[in-house]
Amino acid sequence: MRLSKLASEIAESPTLALNEEARILRERGESVIHLGIGEPKNKTPISAILSSAAKLTSGEVKYTPADGTLSLKKAVIRYTEENYNRLVAPENVIITNGAKQSLFNILYSLLNPQDEVVILAPYWVSYPEIIKMCYGKPVIVTPEDGSFQPRFEEIERAVTGDTRAIIVNSPNNPSGAVYPSEFVAKLADYCERKGIYLICDDIYHKLVFDRIIAHPAYEFSKKDIEDSHIIVVNGVAKVYGMTGFRVGWVVGPRELVRVMTNVTAQTTSGVSPVSQAAAEGALNGLQSVVEAIRLQIENNQAVLLQEMKTFHGARLIKPEGTFYALPDLRAFNGNSIELARFLLKKALVVTVPGKEFGMEGHIRLSVSGSVKDVTDGLARIKWALDPSSPNEIYIGDKKMIRDWL
Ligand code: PMP
Repeated sequence: MRLSKLASEIAESPTLALNEEARILRERGESVIHLGIGEPKNKTPISAILSSAAKLTSGEVKYTPADGTLSLKKAVIRYTEENYNRLVAPENVIITNGAKQSLFNILYSLLNPQDEVVILAPYWVSYPEIIKMCYGKPVIVTPEDGSFQPRFEEIERAVTGDTRAIIVNSPNNPSGAVYPSEFVAKLADYCERKGIYLICDDIYHKLVFDRIIAHPAYEFSKKDIEDSHIIVVNGVAKVYGMTGFRVGWVVGPRELVRVMTNVTAQTTSGVSPVSQAAAEGALNGLQSVVEAIRLQIENNQAVLLQEMKTFHGARLIKPEGTFYALPDLRAFNGNSIELARFLLKKALVVTVPGKEFGMEGHIRLSVSGSVKDVTDGLARIKWALDPSSPNEIYIGDKKMIRDWL
């Protein structure tokens, strides 16, 4: 079959293959622990349920404006004022089918073929693929010191005359790093001066620990939104645990929003009004739901850190936000794809290989599940890899003996 060269070269979602294997194992009755999933365990916030249910029972479920309903835009405007200290107009906001579509449509609207987009390793798996789908070139900046904190000078060196945008994701998937405010300030100033778009993927911005604050780039720019090169991406998936509703949004200059609206109108049309009503309910409802998610994750991260203390050979930079951690397991195997397969086969634990995030030798663990998932999952991983851990373990009701170390 002759298919598009560009489309054929788009990588398979890395979690997909492992998820599929895990599903088959589960169906066989195996006790699989999933430390691969990136979504909180909470039930949908009640305010979101009520407002989407009201929309549904009205029976008026029709096309929506391609850029989103005005009432959801108003909720986003209030959210932006409260969290970013910026008053924006409805024309500066577009509602999208998750933050994923936000990113795709931004890049589709900004890039000409061969334009470069700088991304900072470790990066979210979809960035390079989305950039390529928009005929752009991903330029990856990896911290030379092995940390998860990019240095401004390294970014400056990667920028060329063809650089159109830099994507920043802090708090970061997959490392949990939060970039310091001095770094964000420097980058915001640099982008504004150079006319490079700074795309801030803020999808985890409230999921931070130890009173750390993820300072938004807007804080460091005095420019009016119409002249600013800062573009904010956010959504309800992570902070409200509403991954299945598929609602994200972009705040940016109206010209960008106008072009993105046309792109949306000619491809997907506006997001389902039932989902938009849900998002509106979440944004306008009790915000203690966010704090409940944050606390649960903070607690799970503390449990993970505790368990990691007795994992000899593994090195972990403490996550400051998100439900991810990215331990360095090079002491056991430098090939993270092999390592993830090994952990699934021997320990029945699903993890995601760091290679997919531009950090070979690392494994991404998600602590968005239960405390028991974290403790049992870690015990199994230690059992499979660390010779100083007990060589017997119960996996489900089976007693397993390690005979490979
Ligand atoms: N950005 C990052 C960094 C993410 O981790 C994710 C979800 N995994 C997204 C964007 C996409 O979010 P959504 O579900 O709203 O499309």
